[in-house]
Amino acid sequence: MSQAACLFCRIITRQVPAEIVGETEGLLAIKDNNPQAPTHLLIMPTEHIPTLADTTEQHASLWGRIVQLANRLAQHHRLLPEGYRLVINCGPNAGQSVWHLHVHLLGGRPLQWPPG
Ligand code: AMP
Ligand code: ZN
Repeated sequence: MSQAACLFCRIITRQVPAEIVGETEGLLAIKDNNPQAPTHLLIMPTEHIPTLADTTEQHASLWGRIVQLANRLAQHHRLLPEGYRLVINCGPNAGQSVWHLHVHLLGGRPLQWPPG
């Protein structure tokens, strides 16, 4: 898929509307429009990376920034101390449906384990 056709790239460039809840160097966070928990956010790199499997050691600093933003958003959305979950679906067997890397942040209720 080309970047021009990528839904999340189009959200990042504001061609498609979304409820933006956070923005920091190289990252955007939005509300999921089909929430699976009272709080369901998506944290995505502004760079078009199709899947987790496409990341390399060049993306090492990206992960630190993602986890820091997740923690900040969790605090802001009052998910602590009860807790929250980060999920990355990588590929069809994991149920990935948007081919632009994103991390789900879910919280606000007890979550089941194992998922899916
Ligand atoms: P995944 O299945 O892991 O690829 O997750 C894709 C997520 O994107 C799903 O939870 C969808 O509900 C969500 N989603 C799809 N389109 C939009 C959109 N336009 N705005 C916000 N979230 C979206
Ligand atoms: Zn993209």
